[in-house]
Amino acid sequence: MAPASKRPSEITPETLRQLAFDQAIRWSSRNDDIWQVIDNELWQLTHNPSLVLSTVPEQALDELLNRSDCHQLVQDIVQEQRARLERPTWFAGQAHAQTLGRVAYFSMEYMLSEALPIYSGGLGNVAGDQLKAASDLGVPVTAVGMLWQHGYFRQGIGPDGSQQELYPVNDTRQLPIEPLRDATGKPLRLAIHLPGVQIWLRGWQAIVGRNRLLLLDTNDPANPPLARLISSELYGGDNEMRLRQELVLGIGGWRLLEAAGLQPDVLHLNDGHAAFAVLERARSHMVREQVSFAVALGATRAGNLFTTHTPVEAGFDRFPAELVGKYLGRYAKYELGISLQALLAMGRKQPQDPREPFNMAYLATRGAGAVNAVSQLHGHTSRFIFRELFPRWPIDAVPVGHVTNGIHLPTWVSPNAEAHWHELHGDDTPWRGTDKVSVAELLARVDDRWLWQIRQHARSDLLAFVRSHLARSLAVHGASPSEIEMAGTRLHPERLTLGFARRFASYKRPNLLLHDPQRLARILTHTQHPVQLLVAGKAHPADRAGQALLSEWQRFAARADIAGRVVFLEDYDMRIARHLVQGVDVWLNTPRRPWEASGTSGMKVLANGGLNLSQLDGWWAEAYAADLGWAVGDGLEHEPAHDAMDAEQLYRLLEEEIVPAFYTRDADGTPNAWVQRMRRSMSALVERFSADRTVREYTERYYLPLAMAYRERCAEGSARARELARQVTCLRGYWHELAFTRLEWLTAGDRYRVEARLHLGHIEPQQIAVQLFAEPGEIRPLDLVQHDGPFAVFQGELPVTRPAADYTARVVPSADLGLNVPLELALILWQR
Ligand SMILES: *Cc1c(COP(=O)(O)O)cnc(C)c1O
Repeated sequence: MAPASKRPSEITPETLRQLAFDQAIRWSSRNDDIWQVIDNELWQLTHNPSLVLSTVPEQALDELLNRSDCHQLVQDIVQEQRARLERPTWFAGQAHAQTLGRVAYFSMEYMLSEALPIYSGGLGNVAGDQLKAASDLGVPVTAVGMLWQHGYFRQGIGPDGSQQELYPVNDTRQLPIEPLRDATGKPLRLAIHLPGVQIWLRGWQAIVGRNRLLLLDTNDPANPPLARLISSELYGGDNEMRLRQELVLGIGGWRLLEAAGLQPDVLHLNDGHAAFAVLERARSHMVREQVSFAVALGATRAGNLFTTHTPVEAGFDRFPAELVGKYLGRYAKYELGISLQALLAMGRKQPQDPREPFNMAYLATRGAGAVNAVSQLHGHTSRFIFRELFPRWPIDAVPVGHVTNGIHLPTWVSPNAEAHWHELHGDDTPWRGTDKVSVAELLARVDDRWLWQIRQHARSDLLAFVRSHLARSLAVHGASPSEIEMAGTRLHPERLTLGFARRFASYKRPNLLLHDPQRLARILTHTQHPVQLLVAGKAHPADRAGQALLSEWQRFAARADIAGRVVFLEDYDMRIARHLVQGVDVWLNTPRRPWEASGTSGMKVLANGGLNLSQLDGWWAEAYAADLGWAVGDGLEHEPAHDAMDAEQLYRLLEEEIVPAFYTRDADGTPNAWVQRMRRSMSALVERFSADRTVREYTERYYLPLAMAYRERCAEGSARARELARQVTCLRGYWHELAFTRLEWLTAGDRYRVEARLHLGHIEPQQIAVQLFAEPGEIRPLDLVQHDGPFAVFQGELPVTRPAADYTARVVPSADLGLNVPLELALILWQR
């Protein structure tokens, strides 16, 4: 061990601490090496760099850094990181980048690393991966979330195959976070009101590359015990607890941002849980600008984006009106200056229906400048779910767009695959944000053997992980030494390996593959072409049906004739997910269409050379092509009785296509047809389903335009917002006076001439647009030709391309007003 002759002064234990602290450090798996050198075992078990560091005394750390190999390693990592941060970012090159000061991103959960277990699954995955991608791209995002003391439950599988729910504590001293401090250096504490008491919120921060994640908790000793437990369990507790959590996240979260000195232009709600932030943002604007709540909401909502994640209405958070009254009655009256009824109306389909519960997704929509779903199909589904907020508007006009989710590639690509890509093209691997070379171009340079070796290596790494995970689980549950010794030994690295891991919720149909257990057993235990299957997933503690599905798998895996070819890995989390998606040959997903809004786990296998066998739902419905992977379902929605057909298709694909393709080898043992498919899947899909692409889309289509609209409405003492509020009040108040008195169609040659006569009442002709509408979305404007008191005449001409009866005349608010119609004002009058 040669001591370094001279260590550059900048590499100190503090340098390591900074590296350990960054939640986005895994831009490259090569950065992991340093933690392996320090304490490989602890690193492999926790992937928590700050924990690894905390076990090493200062002096030992100093000695370590004096070792030339370590020193070089840290220096390389630091230099690479610095170079990356100094490189001009994608965002800096955007026109109008200056109009976007900052995006505030709110989410109930974040899946950034194992070191910060404040996530449950898909929603946290989307938030974490997008936050990292935003840092890579230079998009200025500050995220806000909750510091859950127990996070989501941890899963044990008891000896009888049943799920145990375990709640270990997140010790703040061992998490990569630090207290958020105010300008004077004191830890931030914020007050917020619950009925009858004021409670304290504490602020924390985590670093995510160029950006920060601010976290809140209520575990302040000054709080009553019940209040301290608000930030205890993610998705735990009753409906009232959920409401308290959402108040803390939404209202507390916005206050935390402001207390930290931030004034974001855009508020991005990752699902509706944090929708109260819309109210608090408006309240803050009210106070600052001395305007009414209506004006403040009009100004601020222009900068709010709501991303919906649920494909069924039952998935939205809803609260009884009494509960909302109890927690927000005072806030509405004294802070927002509106009645409780007015507040409740924002969360209802029928604003006046006293029986309707308060729906957070409706609040989010009524407080948004734009709404989006998370895949193309989910956009379609969502327009149906939200259509009742836009009564009488055609379905295609329901203002819900979509941005398909993507995953942060550096987080999910295996160290081995990463090393291969690196060898091929140095730092410019396609997911490192340099954009110089595409996956397709890189793949054109390698032969089938090269690609197949990545696969072989990945599968054997995965099995090594599975064996050690199994052995530890068995040991913890008190298995005998021989059982522990035997764990996973019947798995084989040359066998076709399938992976299936997800929440055990009924709609995910985790037991579709078990539809005919005998047939599955035959596929698995085929003598020449055997298959092995790795399964993982948690069932929510309250979901009995999901737990029954889980037990069904336990029983199947335990069957003697299955010969250990099905292994259930307990406690599905980011670590298990990473190993699975890196190692499996085929990733299975069998949700009930259209219940999977997007799904992301299948995207994680792409860059690792895994292939997808999935229901045509969520992202796969838009990604699938016959030469890229395999599809279950016919692209239509069906009743549960149809499951048998899907299962049949699943078995047939495995028996007739997938298994034979895997085992058909050329002279040197490479399955060429399989590798062909890998190439096409990777070339077509890796970049398309990356969080990089997702965040670019969010930025171009939403963040930048929303920031501009928000700033415009706020300018000169919110002049624009005041004017718009006046227009809205006027149009809402007098809309019922509008009526068509006559509509006349004349044909002259190849043109129609149309004349509409209207009674306007108190509405000015400039406030409205009179149009002819024909399905599916053809719109022909009519122009004002005469205006006389409450009467007006509009005329237009259009080509005779379809029967006049196809068209219906209608009136909507004029686009010239600058309102986002119908999102902000859903008025419409049809002539018939
Ligand atoms: C990726 C991931 C998810 C989301 O996967 P789906 O495809 O939406 O089921 C859930 N949990 C973990 C641990 C993950 O890594």
